[in-house]
Amino acid sequence: MTALLNPFARPGRWFRGVFHCHTTNSDGMRSVESAMAYYAEGGYDFVSITDHNQLTPVPRRRKDGPLAVPGTEVDVGQSRLGTSYHLVGIGLREMIGLPREVAARHGLAPQAVVRALQQAGAVVFVAHPYWSGLVVDDLLPLDGVAGIEVFNANTEVDIGKGYSGVHWDDCLSRGKLLFGVANDDAHWRLQDFGQAWTQLRAEALTPESIVEGLQSGAFYASTGAVLEDVAFNGAAITVRVGAPGASEVRFKCDHRWGHRVVAEGEPLETATYAVRGHEKYVRVEVATPSGQRAWTNPLFLER
Ligand SMILES: [Zn+2]
Ligand SMILES: [Zn+2]
Repeated sequence: MTALLNPFARPGRWFRGVFHCHTTNSDGMRSVESAMAYYAEGGYDFVSITDHNQLTPVPRRRKDGPLAVPGTEVDVGQSRLGTSYHLVGIGLREMIGLPREVAARHGLAPQAVVRALQQAGAVVFVAHPYWSGLVVDDLLPLDGVAGIEVFNANTEVDIGKGYSGVHWDDCLSRGKLLFGVANDDAHWRLQDFGQAWTQLRAEALTPESIVEGLQSGAFYASTGAVLEDVAFNGAAITVRVGAPGASEVRFKCDHRWGHRVVAEGEPLETATYAVRGHEKYVRVEVATPSGQRAWTNPLFLER
């Protein structure tokens, strides 16, 4: 068993932010200023603007506004089904060289693009695998990818393909470590903003600490559910859920191992899972009575 970083046991505080959204620099309906103003009003701590195939200059930080962390989203490569990968790079210093022509971009090897993004200083995750038509065999060979979007609001609101939990479990079951982020991917045309975010644990709010937290899995993903604590003592995992509590807590493992705790009457404040010892990994999903979710990263992984 390889114990992974448990952000709840990490010093620091929680910072809330989004790692994926668009502006009028690409196909979003809001300007950079308007997008940042929206997230400022919502009290977000950090925002990455990830316009397509370009690096939108990081705006000057407004008083009480979120920290902007540079980002981009590139559509490259070809999947088993002939679709392309959407790779999000966060924290890059400069834009990587990319062909303007769509066909040429889709002819690139995704692994080479991941490497280029990493060399430019980025942490890379795969956006909306379900919407992209990616299958597990598209994800398994990719080295250097920190995670996938377990939830993407835009693709959920648009066509109901925002959840990629099965892709995630499929990779984890094969011993491939990926973390799970949740993002708006706001294009501001649909109700795709204020829907999904990441709670990241760090000692300070700086671009470096946010990028490091993303790389090391020091976060959980949420569409509104709040996790007060997740404790793992090697034998049991105990989750404490913030108000209003959970209607359901799921401990997700490989194969058919795992456990589901359902509230009877009052919402759950805590739930515990006794680790059997043969699970390859355990991660936790929480749902509130109104259907808001949260997803932890796996707490350990057998590779
Ligand atoms: Zn995309
Ligand atoms: Zn996007």
